[in-house]
Amino acid sequence: MTDPGMKCTRCKAPARFRFPQHNARFCDACLDLVIHRQVDKAIRRFQMLEPGQPVLVAISGGKDSLALWRILCELGYPAQGLHLRLELGPFSEASLEASQAMARLLGRPLHVRRLADLAGATVQEVVWANKREFCAVCGSLKRYYLNRVCLEMGLPVLATGHHLDDETGRMLGNLLHGRQDHLDRTWPVLDAWQDGFVKKIKPLCRLGGDEILAYATAHQLPVAQGSCSGAKGATLPYYQEAMRYLESKMPGTKRDLYLGFLRRAAGPPAPPSPGAACQVCGHPTHVGTCTVCRMLERTRAWRGRAPRRR
Ligand SMILES: [Zn+2]
Ligand SMILES: [Zn+2]
Repeated sequence: MTDPGMKCTRCKAPARFRFPQHNARFCDACLDLVIHRQVDKAIRRFQMLEPGQPVLVAISGGKDSLALWRILCELGYPAQGLHLRLELGPFSEASLEASQAMARLLGRPLHVRRLADLAGATVQEVVWANKREFCAVCGSLKRYYLNRVCLEMGLPVLATGHHLDDETGRMLGNLLHGRQDHLDRTWPVLDAWQDGFVKKIKPLCRLGGDEILAYATAHQLPVAQGSCSGAKGATLPYYQEAMRYLESKMPGTKRDLYLGFLRRAAGPPAPPSPGAACQVCGHPTHVGTCTVCRMLERTRAWRGRAPRRR
């Protein structure tokens, strides 16, 4: 990230951070300015938030969500945090502590909910009962309950820390496997839908993981160390690694892919059709009962059959 003797491209002060994709080096103060500008630009361009609008931020305890929370507060949005406790071992506990430390630093409220309370089952139980990949189940449950809790709290917008590396990694996977419908839904804003969806936004979509890491380092954000012990079956990291390779050979590739796609796209994806609500919970779905309600139904049935676990 650094070379000794580097000078800031903007102000010529000693620079700590180098970004080949911008052919630029920044000191700490200019890094802040540039990062805040990029997020502000994304918020305005995609009409994510009105000035000063309250927003709930999904806080995992990793660098992306902690940086997003700080940036939104710095830009004048009264952002509250929501942390879902997954309870998958020491990393989950470190993630909770990191989220709480960030809330104290910002002086902002953090809401903490146990996924097991919300779902009435642990992630592991849902995985066992449905015989599905751990990360797929965990991801579905997290997305579902972040949305539900945000709805219950009456906050109109949910922000997540997804950035350029997440979006381009996902795009590459969708491209390679011909998932055109997923590809067509690439957009950093998902509008609210009837009573089932809050508006979802990705204000970090113009920033790479390296830029967010630099920001987290510059501000010594209390990022949770380690990785999830449950992480099995996730394929996104492979696509992200492939994108990192391309980026290292051709700086700017990620921005070209993502921002170029958005420029050429007709606009935000069409909302679900009016009748497409889950019979059980009202969540948007095309199949009568939504994926999460079906997974939880199977989990309850499995519990009735399974020998008691200690
Ligand atoms: Zn500078
Ligand atoms: Zn449902």
